[in-house]
Amino acid sequence: MSGGQRIAATLIPGDGIGPEITASVVAVLDALGAPFAWEEHVAGMAGIAAKGDPLPGATLDSIARTKLALKGPLTTPVGGGFKSINVTLRQKFSLYANLRPARTILPGGRFEDIDIVLVRENLEGFYAAMEHYMPIGDDPKAIAMSAGFNSRAECRRICEYAFEYARKNGRKKVTLVHKANILKALTGIFLEEGREVARKYAGEIECNDRIVDACAMQLVLDPWQYDVIVTTNLFGDILSDLIAGLVGGLGMAPGANIGPEAAIFEAVHGSAPDIAGKGIANPLALMMAAGLMLRHVGRHDLADRLTAAIDKTVRVDAVRTGDLGGRANTEGLTKALIGNLA
Ligand code: NAD
Repeated sequence: MSGGQRIAATLIPGDGIGPEITASVVAVLDALGAPFAWEEHVAGMAGIAAKGDPLPGATLDSIARTKLALKGPLTTPVGGGFKSINVTLRQKFSLYANLRPARTILPGGRFEDIDIVLVRENLEGFYAAMEHYMPIGDDPKAIAMSAGFNSRAECRRICEYAFEYARKNGRKKVTLVHKANILKALTGIFLEEGREVARKYAGEIECNDRIVDACAMQLVLDPWQYDVIVTTNLFGDILSDLIAGLVGGLGMAPGANIGPEAAIFEAVHGSAPDIAGKGIANPLALMMAAGLMLRHVGRHDLADRLTAAIDKTVRVDAVRTGDLGGRANTEGLTKALIGNLA
C-alpha cells in the first residue's frame, strides 16, 4: 500500500478504560503518520447507552464496509440475555484466525528475548459448544457430553494463514500443535492438513510438530525454540495465555481476529472498571494491537517504528504505568511514546 493512501477503519473506543486507551493509541498513530481514516462507532455498554444495543447495526455496517477495526475492551452486560459481543463478531465476520503475539519488552523478567506468535483456530473444535447432559436415575445432569468438530477445509485455512503470516513477517519456523496421538480424528486431520500446507513452503519456512502437552512443558523450559505456533481452538486458547504469562501477563498482550470479511484488532485485557476514568490505564496492549493492524495493511515500516518507540519508552527510559510497577499515567506514557517515534 502506498504511503499517501488513506485507509478507512472502524474505531470502537469501548467501555471502562477503553476511551482512555484508544485516545492514547489514536494520538500515537496520528503522530506516527498512520494512514487510518477513522469511523468511530459504539459497542458494549456504550452501545446500550447510546442505541439500546450492545452491537448496533451502524457499528456492524461500518466494519462490513471498512473490513478493519480497532476495538477497545467491552464490558459484557450481566443478565438481560445479551449474547457475547466477541462471539457474535467472530461468527458474523468469520474471524477464523486469532493471532496472539508475545514478545519480551520489560527487562528483568524470568524470560528475556521471547518472540512467539501463536495462531489459534477461532471457529471450530470444542468451542462449537455442542454440549448436553444425560440423566442417570434422579440426576438429570449425571453425565455431561461435549462434541467438537474440525473440518479439513478450516484446518487447511488456518495452517495456510499461519504459513502466509510467517512468510510475510520474516518468520522462519511454524510448529503444528496437536493431540493426534489420542484425538486421532479430531486433531489428526489438523496435523495432516498442516503437513500438506507445509510442503508448499518447503525450503522457505521450516515446519515441525508437537503434541500439545509436550509443547506446554517446552514453552516453560525452552520457549526460545518456538517462532510461529499454529493450533486448534481449545489448545490455542490455553497456550496463548501461557505465552502471555511468559512476557508479563495480559496487560501487555495484543490480539487480532482475522477473517476474509474483516479483521478486528484489540487488547486481550478487559475494560478494567476498577481504574476507569482515573487516567492511569496502560495503553500498551492496544498500542501493540494497532501495530498488528499496521502490519495487516502492509505498513511494516510504521509498525517497526511503533515497536521501537514502545521498546525505548518502556525498556530504556523506564516510563511505565502502575500495573508495570511505574509511576507514569496514561497521558505521560503517551507523550513519552510520541517523543520516541524516530
Ligand atoms: P480486566 O482485564 O478488565 O481487569 C483485570 C485487572 O487487570 C484489573 O485489576 C484491571 O485494573 C487490570 N487491568 C486490565 N487492563 C489494564 C490496563 N490496560 N492497564 C492497567 N490495568 C489493567 O478483567 P475483568 O475485570 O475480569 O473484566 C472487566 C470487564 O471486561 C468484564 O465486563 C469483562 O467481561 C470484560 N472483558 C472484555 C474483553 C474484551 O472486550 N476483549 C476481554 C476481557 C474482559
